[in-house]
Amino acid sequence: MKLIDLRSDTVTKPSPEMLRFMINAPLGDDVYGEDPTVNELEVFCASLIGTESALYCPSGTQSNLIALLTHCERGEEYIAGQTAHTYLCEGGGGAVVGGIQPQPLNFESDGTLDLNKVKSLIKPDNDHFARTKLLCLENTQSGKALPLDYLANACLFAKKHNLKIHLDGARIFNAAIKCNTTAQQIAQGFDSVSVCLSKGLGAPVGSLLCSNASFIKRARRWRKMLGGGMRQAGMLAAAGIYALKNNFQRLKTDHDNARLLSQKLSEIDALKVDYPENQTNMVFVEIGATDPFKLSAFLKENGILIHESKILRLVTHLDLNQEDILKTAEGFKKYYRSTTKNSLQ
Ligand SMILES: *Cc1c(COP(=O)(O)O)cnc(C)c1O
Repeated sequence: MKLIDLRSDTVTKPSPEMLRFMINAPLGDDVYGEDPTVNELEVFCASLIGTESALYCPSGTQSNLIALLTHCERGEEYIAGQTAHTYLCEGGGGAVVGGIQPQPLNFESDGTLDLNKVKSLIKPDNDHFARTKLLCLENTQSGKALPLDYLANACLFAKKHNLKIHLDGARIFNAAIKCNTTAQQIAQGFDSVSVCLSKGLGAPVGSLLCSNASFIKRARRWRKMLGGGMRQAGMLAAAGIYALKNNFQRLKTDHDNARLLSQKLSEIDALKVDYPENQTNMVFVEIGATDPFKLSAFLKENGILIHESKILRLVTHLDLNQEDILKTAEGFKKYYRSTTKNSLQ
């Protein structure tokens, strides 16, 4: 039985075509800058994001950490969302490795950071305080694509307040499809952008940090120090090239599937489904009084994988088709039919 895995868009497996492309990639030593496939990926990705250069990294966590280390020195500070990957989900890397202090604040419901609130958190130039250096945004944020005018304002804001601005664009390509624009348009004005190949694009591993050439030169040094200098990495980079060329436009299908899933699950009274207009490939579902462990165990028996949580995050991706979505909705309905029946007995 095919497993329908809705836990994340990181779970995709390389297709036979992607694997063939990986096997045939020309290779060299990337620490010497001699892997032609890594070099091609970096040039190609930089062109898509509209930056001078890009750096291939093993993970998005490392790419974001390298960005922090390249922008900030010890005793400096970055501002990020309370639930931002760069703050919550990267083991405190900036603080651990770089002596960089995070200043978190809550995201607004649309995934933005309120710039007035950000302004109030910028520390005055005073020996008591860490020096506020960097603002980090995330796009998409929990699957929500940030409005283009907000992004432009945030970049102007950063410039005005003498801050650098980094975009954690793990899912920037989902945002581009959602906003009917290019990744380049979204990235415009940012000092650095991190993009993931291993999310909706379907590559097995890899992220790129994109910026100007002098920033990337300094970033390359940090990558080596963090152990991210991989040798014949072209085998992996080839998957990234394949993903960017073949799996970008099809992200629309994931968004359509997420919308369909949200509609089907809305038919179940016990569930409160959240799928706002700017949402892409994630459906958030409050399960109220439902036991998350029973629900997840029941679904698992039916070949559907979710995380156990009071608020489910269901993520669509290229290994799921419309039929899988309908099966998923049917699985949920079956669960609630069975629990209603039990409670009546
Ligand atoms: C996945 C993700 C990353 C990077 O994660 P890795 O698993 O380290 O590649 C960074 N930011 C966001 C928002 C993500 O979703």
